[in-house]
Amino acid sequence: MVTLQSSFHDLLHLFFPHVCAGCGTDVLDQDQLLCLHCLNDLPATNFFNQHDNPVEQVFYGRIKISNAAAGYFFTKDSLLQNLIVQFKYQGNKEIGLYLGKLVGHFLSNSPHYSKIDALVPLPLNPRKEKKRGYNQALELCNGITSVWNKPLLNNNVKRTVFTDTQTHKGRISRWQNMDGIFAINNPEELENKHILLVDDVVTTGATLEACGSEILKIKGTTLSIATLAYTI
Ligand SMILES: [Zn+2]
Repeated sequence: MVTLQSSFHDLLHLFFPHVCAGCGTDVLDQDQLLCLHCLNDLPATNFFNQHDNPVEQVFYGRIKISNAAAGYFFTKDSLLQNLIVQFKYQGNKEIGLYLGKLVGHFLSNSPHYSKIDALVPLPLNPRKEKKRGYNQALELCNGITSVWNKPLLNNNVKRTVFTDTQTHKGRISRWQNMDGIFAINNPEELENKHILLVDDVVTTGATLEACGSEILKIKGTTLSIATLAYTI
């Protein structure tokens, strides 16, 4: 028997087709962005369950972290790259929420992250945020906390100066340029907490290092890092 609800759903689907952002199939749940096939094809790292993983190694000798991981390998011309481009440069916040949920599942299933007290999104350069309309790290955090019950502390860590992306400079000069660009509004809020600093992609780790080192100046803080993707 066809129920009223299912025929309404069929009608909705007819007029507003919901298709997979990866392959275009319409065989997927209404609240999903990708079909199971495309979701399983995303290159997961399994770093959240692995100590001394390549993301942790990025920070060795630079900043004291408890754990660090990225959910997926970032590769060129991939579905993940396409999703990140839509999320960061084409105003598609829904994708950020969805990808954040995926990271949230990795975090909630890992024993290494159970002691996290609060999430802090890496602040975006205010000029960029104004242009984009949102901070992508905050959108990821919103997705993470929708499936992993942890407090989100936004607007406490700030960028203090405007800097351009210095993609053509090496790690050392970049770090020197970033030294002092982050500031904490209310250090008491972070005192004695294990903070998870969140960003979209980790490459050289320079920005996360600069921001994390400010957080570690606060009394009793412990730092871990989580990103959506890792670029080799
Ligand atoms: Zn698909």
